[in-house]
Amino acid sequence: MALTPEELSRYSRHLRLQEVGQAGQERLRAGSVLVIGMGGLGSPAALYLAAAGVGRIGLADFDKVEAHNLQRQIIHTEAGVGGPKLDSAMERLRALNSGVELVPHPEGVTVDNTRELFGQYDVILDGTDNFPTRYLNNDAAFLAGKPLVYGSIFQFEGQVSVFDPASGGPCYRCLFPRMPAPGEVPNCDEAGVFGALCGTVGSTQALEALKLIMGIGEPLRGRLLVLDTLTQRQTTIRVKPDPACPLCGAQPGITTLDAANYEFTCETEPDMSESEIEIDVHAAKAVLEANNGAVLLDVREPYEADICQVTGSRLIPLKELPQRFSDLPKDKPLLVYCHHGMRSLRATEFLRRQGYEQAQSVIGGIHSWAEEIEPSMQRY
Ligand SMILES: [Zn+2]
Repeated sequence: MALTPEELSRYSRHLRLQEVGQAGQERLRAGSVLVIGMGGLGSPAALYLAAAGVGRIGLADFDKVEAHNLQRQIIHTEAGVGGPKLDSAMERLRALNSGVELVPHPEGVTVDNTRELFGQYDVILDGTDNFPTRYLNNDAAFLAGKPLVYGSIFQFEGQVSVFDPASGGPCYRCLFPRMPAPGEVPNCDEAGVFGALCGTVGSTQALEALKLIMGIGEPLRGRLLVLDTLTQRQTTIRVKPDPACPLCGAQPGITTLDAANYEFTCETEPDMSESEIEIDVHAAKAVLEANNGAVLLDVREPYEADICQVTGSRLIPLKELPQRFSDLPKDKPLLVYCHHGMRSLRATEFLRRQGYEQAQSVIGGIHSWAEEIEPSMQRY
């Protein structure tokens, strides 16, 4: 079907581009993209895909909007805080372009639904910020034979690539064969991220998805774009398919989606070896109530303690702990917490090595405490 007069007018700046033209715009209208995650990357990506006139856009997210998301997740507004990200994103996109079909996937991506979900779209755009989902998206996209537009951000640095083994390119596992262990890498919440960087990376992902649908230019297939926004230096690294890749290699070990391959979360359940080193917030509260001398140690940064702190805490930021731990009592329960339980786990491991056998890290940190114990506490 030819473009309508309204479409010809609306997309006229596209149509004037020789590489796009009416044929390209018709391809966009016939095309579909699944955007996974309505966060920092998914926000600008979905906005540009909708503005460009991609015919069908799937949105997968199960999260709620929180005030601290607004620093970078520009599809959401203050009015959306507390509600599902999907509602907030759908409303904004509908207002932007009523001519595109929006398909909500409120369950997000899971081991069970990915393959069926990915099968419904031409291009998969990964805007997630955690390793399990990133590996799951990569594996599911490969198994479904769909191109995956990858983006990631860390502090001031961004990466974008197109993983498309069906067209001869590498996959994410060709670069990083295995998922890092919890604690090996900080997640975004712990590490911080420069908000405007998300705009650059998410828009670049949208741009790659549009190129893939129209079949124009040179997508970032087999190339990893690395942006350092603090210096504004960009590099493009060539990435070849790895014949030994556990997914797309000659003798793959991963041939189906197995939940065991994606078990890692930033707020992870402790495994057996860590069962004593971590404690949940309810048990922590009980320990504090039962022991007068119990010490509650906050290893976050001072600015975080200014936002909220559990009453009776002593603040020693993680990086100062090696110089300042010596006056902590060894014969009392010592409960360590941070924002989400990553830094406190590292602190606890350090303290255990110094002979603090009663040191325990509070699972989920003050975030969990606020959710479970003190709902009135300010969260961030
Ligand atoms: Zn691979």
